[in-house]
Amino acid sequence: MTLETSIEFIKGIGPERAKFIKSVLGLQTVADLLTFYPLRYMDKSKIHKIGELTEELTAEIQLKGKITDIQEIGYGKGQKRLSAKFRDDTGSLELVWFRYSKWMKEQLPPNQELFIFGKINVFNGIFSMPHPEIEADEKKALSGSLLPIYPGSEKLAKRGVNNKFFQSVLGDIVKNLPVLINENLPQELIKKYRLISRIHAFYHIHFPKDLDHYEHANQRLKFEEAFFFQLGYAFKKQHHKSSVLGNPFPKIGRNFKNFYEEVLPFELTNAQKKVLKEIRTDLKKPIQMNRLLQGDVGSGKTMVALLSMLIALDNGFQSCMMAPTEILAQQHFNSLTELLDTSSVKVRLLTGSTKTAERKIIHEELLSGELSILVGTHAVLEDIVKFKNLGLAIIDEQHRFGVAQRARLWAKNKIPPHILVMTATPIPRTLAMSFYSDLDVSVIDELPLGRKPIITAHRREKDRLTVFRFAKDEIEKGRQIYFVYPLIEESETLDYKNLLENFDHIVEFFEGKNVTMLHGRMKPAEKDAAMQHFASGKSEIMVATTVIEVGVNVPNASVMIIESAERFGLSQLHQLRGRVGRGAEQSFCILMTSDKLSKESRTRIKTMTETNDGFKISEVDMQLRGPGDILGTQQSGVVDFKKLSLLTDGKIIKAAKTAADILLKDDPHLQKPENAGLKNYYVKQYHGKNKWGQIS
Ligand code: ADP
Ligand code: MG
Repeated sequence: MTLETSIEFIKGIGPERAKFIKSVLGLQTVADLLTFYPLRYMDKSKIHKIGELTEELTAEIQLKGKITDIQEIGYGKGQKRLSAKFRDDTGSLELVWFRYSKWMKEQLPPNQELFIFGKINVFNGIFSMPHPEIEADEKKALSGSLLPIYPGSEKLAKRGVNNKFFQSVLGDIVKNLPVLINENLPQELIKKYRLISRIHAFYHIHFPKDLDHYEHANQRLKFEEAFFFQLGYAFKKQHHKSSVLGNPFPKIGRNFKNFYEEVLPFELTNAQKKVLKEIRTDLKKPIQMNRLLQGDVGSGKTMVALLSMLIALDNGFQSCMMAPTEILAQQHFNSLTELLDTSSVKVRLLTGSTKTAERKIIHEELLSGELSILVGTHAVLEDIVKFKNLGLAIIDEQHRFGVAQRARLWAKNKIPPHILVMTATPIPRTLAMSFYSDLDVSVIDELPLGRKPIITAHRREKDRLTVFRFAKDEIEKGRQIYFVYPLIEESETLDYKNLLENFDHIVEFFEGKNVTMLHGRMKPAEKDAAMQHFASGKSEIMVATTVIEVGVNVPNASVMIIESAERFGLSQLHQLRGRVGRGAEQSFCILMTSDKLSKESRTRIKTMTETNDGFKISEVDMQLRGPGDILGTQQSGVVDFKKLSLLTDGKIIKAAKTAADILLKDDPHLQKPENAGLKNYYVKQYHGKNKWGQIS
């Protein structure tokens, strides 16, 4: 038997069953079975006493005693059940069978010493055990270890592939562990992280001697998963850094200096300076930069982006900046043109709605090198858009762009451009460590000085008048207000109607004020006009759907009222809230909800009112939605760890990442003898899946 042996050759399986198991569970080899981990374990090492049962006892337990008083009770089909008393010398409880066949009644051996095993039910302080397992043989009943319970189904059980089957098959396999399994972690790591050996881990994950042994096995297997995953990324990064060329930008030149000294309207925050330095260091090297810039909404990522693009320009290269929506691209374009107003730097905007004539100019100027900065949407990716020498590509709100799109940017220059991806949706630490490990990460963890934290409140329909009056007062003080309505995805018409109705109410209540509307049905030019109207201060109130979610910047807007807030996800609420609090005034976010809230909605609303910290919010979001949803469909398949949990194993992931980084630094090509086992395992495991892992 080896790990690759097909399961059909295992005693008790055979070709037919092997086929069946493969089709239902996808298990094909001994290795597959070995990592078919138990769901939980039952403890048959102890015998409990009925007199000592408590309501807190929720696990399955074993009792020793005698069956008496067997009877059928209830009437009619579906109502009948079989009941019996079970006594030991401390008390009695009821055994019940809701499904049973007639002969069972005769087969239950009364007044005979028996072992029963099952889960205890408590109802009104009375204990019962439904569908107990019954065993007369003490040797079979009592087991020295915890017994594994494997995932199963009725379909499987019908063909004899039940828990007993897996116990017996795995029992055979674990006997062979010493020949099947090689250690794949170097002794130094095993010692450092106090891990148990691989052989022991597999043994005790299936047949743990006790809980303690199970814990150790579990830890070891989790660490291993995390470690090799991180090692893969570490290789990728190492490979990238040693082979993907980039254009070095050694100079700080006229454009950058001029802007920094003459134009920059404020002092950069320390966090912005730190991040800029990290980017500068990357750009100096003849290696492509791949950096993720995380910074909460309003932390000033755009300025960092602009300064980086000026560095590219001073070194003779063009830049492009992509945003996920037209409005955002337009906004970036507006603020960049404004900031670069006094300079000779040429900036243009390319989106889906750019007119043909303008496009032609853009194409020409890009090729001639006359155009230094191109701002745009996905339109920038089209093949027809060619640069003279694209040196830096900036992607804003990166979670909306896929890996494939990033790759298309790469192809825009012979030597690929440096890449800076910016996101305002903080990624939970475990995810960032796991899935963006190939990117270097910079974090702006500080808001510009003088920003007051946004005050967030939860209000209900009965408070509407107060909320409206409050909004009116703020407008009187010179502020601007957002009302945001959720998209009703099932019905765009309903959604639109809803928005119109509310729009009318608002116009009526805020008589004399200018109210702007923005929604997804409007043409890009209309949207833009509406946005400009509001941004210019001509309109006091913006009534919108979530179109305004990302990036929109109107510093004088200080109140965000989110209607039906329970219908929004956490990261969306956080993004929306980030539209206010951008100026020096105290800002407010009011979450309007109906009276009845689900538990999850309550958690979301509570989180929002309790914290402004995007990282904390992202953690809660991950707990609620799971890592797969947060990463988006593109990567959710990757979250397929067998043991490791991205929700709860942050510590292990971090330790594994550190361990992988250190190991690779010390032995970049895994040539040291103490790493031979690790190398073997890695090569086998990732063979063909991992083109970047270059081990000589
Ligand atoms: P985000 O990180 O959300 O993209 P922006 O770059 O849009 O944030 O910046 C938000 C606002 O803060 C903008 O109005 C910008 O001009 C301003 N800002 C950026 N950096 C600073 C700073 N260091 N001091 C003061 N204001 C700043
Ligand atoms: Mg932004």
